[in-house]
Amino acid sequence: MSDIITVRLPDGSSRDLPVGSTGADLAAAIGRGLAKAAVAVEVDGTPTDLTATLPDNARVALVTDSTEAGRHVLRHSTAHVLAQAVTDLWPGARYAIGPPIEDGFYYDFELPGGQHFSEDDLERIEERMRAIVAEGQPFVREEHDLEEGLKLFADQPYKVEIIQGVGATTDAAIAEADRGEGVAANAVSAYRNTPSFVDLCRGPHVPSTARLGHFKLMKVAAAYWRGDEKRPQLQRIYGTAWESKAALADHLHRLEEAEKRDHRRLGAELDLFHFPPEIGGGLPVFHPKGGLIRKLMEDYSRTEHEKAGYQFVWTPHLAKSTLFEQSGHLSWYADSMYPPMEMEGATYYPKPMNCPMHILIYKSRQHSYRELPIRLFEFGTVYRFERSGVLNGLLRVRGITQDDAHIFCTHEQLAPELANLLAFVLGLLRAFGLTQFEAELATRPEKFVGEPEEWDQATDALGDALESAGIPYSVAEGEGAFYAPKIDVHVRDAIGRRWQVSTLQVDFQLPQRFELEYVGADNNRHRPFMIHRALFGSIERFFGILVEHYAGAFPTWLAPVQARILPVRNDHEEYARSLAADLGAQGVRVDVVDADEPLGGRVRRGKLEKIPYVLVVGDDDVAAGTVGVNARGKDRPDRDVPVDQFARALRAEIDSLGSPESST
Ligand SMILES: [Zn+2]
Ligand SMILES: [Zn+2]
Repeated sequence: MSDIITVRLPDGSSRDLPVGSTGADLAAAIGRGLAKAAVAVEVDGTPTDLTATLPDNARVALVTDSTEAGRHVLRHSTAHVLAQAVTDLWPGARYAIGPPIEDGFYYDFELPGGQHFSEDDLERIEERMRAIVAEGQPFVREEHDLEEGLKLFADQPYKVEIIQGVGATTDAAIAEADRGEGVAANAVSAYRNTPSFVDLCRGPHVPSTARLGHFKLMKVAAAYWRGDEKRPQLQRIYGTAWESKAALADHLHRLEEAEKRDHRRLGAELDLFHFPPEIGGGLPVFHPKGGLIRKLMEDYSRTEHEKAGYQFVWTPHLAKSTLFEQSGHLSWYADSMYPPMEMEGATYYPKPMNCPMHILIYKSRQHSYRELPIRLFEFGTVYRFERSGVLNGLLRVRGITQDDAHIFCTHEQLAPELANLLAFVLGLLRAFGLTQFEAELATRPEKFVGEPEEWDQATDALGDALESAGIPYSVAEGEGAFYAPKIDVHVRDAIGRRWQVSTLQVDFQLPQRFELEYVGADNNRHRPFMIHRALFGSIERFFGILVEHYAGAFPTWLAPVQARILPVRNDHEEYARSLAADLGAQGVRVDVVDADEPLGGRVRRGKLEKIPYVLVVGDDDVAAGTVGVNARGKDRPDRDVPVDQFARALRAEIDSLGSPESST
């Protein structure tokens, strides 16, 4: 028997190690940098502790701390430290679940005697956590059978419920979550840090708490056990954790920036939209200023679509169940649809998508190949059921207006059509000031409808379109919907956040289900390709993204008020009004705020409203036909600017629309 094992590394090489070597030994053997950065190791695809012995012939990949998987381990380990700190400070506290989440982690607790955490407690808890980190407590894995596991957690009823729930529960999601908590079919795994602190867990964890430290507790919130309002209410502590002090600082800075840009806050401050409880969750109303911006977005989009050869259609909001049976939505999309309504012996649904209706327009008469491609466009409002817990301002609503198009084309037209389409999409996004793109190409999944050769043709065409657009993209192998490969276009906003916006999808299902045809040059009937395409995605969501991207300081062409005129004294008001009339006649959106309050306050208010130009007019201006110009984002006004000169420059700026103005 050999005393050497061989492991295979991700780069295809292999490495010999003494029998009994661990992931930590492997990292040390490869290099000191890696030994410092490794937090876990994947062994044949399973995330494993660095301290575990490596089997012979395994495929291994070290998990380092600055990757998502590595951060996951750091965050999850920090959550254990949080639970230990809370049980130290509140003896008898019960701890329920504590998973890593995006950018951080949380842990749910029940304090003895119905006590509540206050925000001030977070500091004390953090202090205790730092002491635990300083102690360098090892994370030691233990495995138990179910009975032992129940004994181990006898005074922790939530852990007991998790252990007992496995096997007994029929809820697959809960069972899956519980496996994450360290319960397999008949075994329980746990991690112990001190003789007294142990947590039910699948792992892996960092070898020692000394590996942690760049964390911060963020807030306390209420959460029901199992998310069920009939079960006990717990208190959730949220935290964030990172691999370095700098990464933590960056994250906190991004949060601060995001907070300043929160579209829900800005939406109220700038009087753009709100969500009346009288209407219901996820159903916004747009106020005049928000409505104006929305109109400008739609007008621009309509004009561009017209130039690009689209035909405008309109379809209703309800349709009979039979339509959605034929389209298949009722069999694979029903969970996202609104409940049905009965009318005159038929069942109606609010439409979740516009596609079936556009198809009926296509099908209303015969088409010759000479007419293709046919591009049908509509701002179509669709209704999708979203649970109230996931609604998120304009970013996730229940009534969605899509800038939706369906394109019907021949097989030969597919590749050029997709290339044009992608260029069109990117051009429109650029006009709205979004210039950093990334895309994802999702290809054929294992289960699919349609012919493999057609899938290949469409996937190649989508790939070629991405190549010719020259935007970076990744391929998500097998992640297309069963009926369509697609491109998702993501944009980066002003603070580097990534948003998914546009989608281009080649559909192999609907043309078949609706037996779409065209008559070819050979006089035979052929099935057209169908492309689904939403560009903003939804106007509501895109609006929310724009508010955050610009931090409410919309580029001049989209600003509800483009210029505001402030007379210094009442006797300058007449001049202010004639100036407003002049600019208005040139198509500028302008208003006047009279001199009933001090000038300083009016200028400040104009800045708060993020108006691109606040114009001040006084004695000299009235005499000389000039204005004082306070441009947004500039500290000092330009004085004595001739009115004509200002008006010309403003008009040129508006006409150049999307000329990306960097936001504040
Ligand atoms: Zn754990
Ligand atoms: Zn569609």
